[in-house]
Amino acid sequence: MKNCLVVDDSKVIRKVARHILETLNFNVDEAEDGREALSRCEEKMPDVVLLDWNMPVMSGMEFLRTLRQQDIPTQPKVVFCTTENDTAHIRAAIEAGADEYVMKPFDRETLESKLQIVGVA
Ligand SMILES: [Mg+2]
Repeated sequence: MKNCLVVDDSKVIRKVARHILETLNFNVDEAEDGREALSRCEEKMPDVVLLDWNMPVMSGMEFLRTLRQQDIPTQPKVVFCTTENDTAHIRAAIEAGADEYVMKPFDRETLESKLQIVGVA
């Protein structure tokens, strides 16, 4: 079973994502901001991170930059979630090390196809 860390300040989004991911046979952990996500990664590095853009305390972008600077044997795949249909945002996320992005709200099919693209599903 692969591990997915869901990082989002919305409890509802985390719950929806967890449900979808569990039906796709993932072990799911949750974090409500980038800082909590970094702690989760220190405890156990996930195979993939589903990462929100806008969060208090530490944004998705700050989390991603910090994660990608870490000297670890295997970097997790990162799928960035955004509501912004904005190519500048998407380009910034990819340049910072995101592997893919998904527009919110996402459904099971969309998320599954993104996870297949990054090679974890
Ligand atoms: Mg948010």
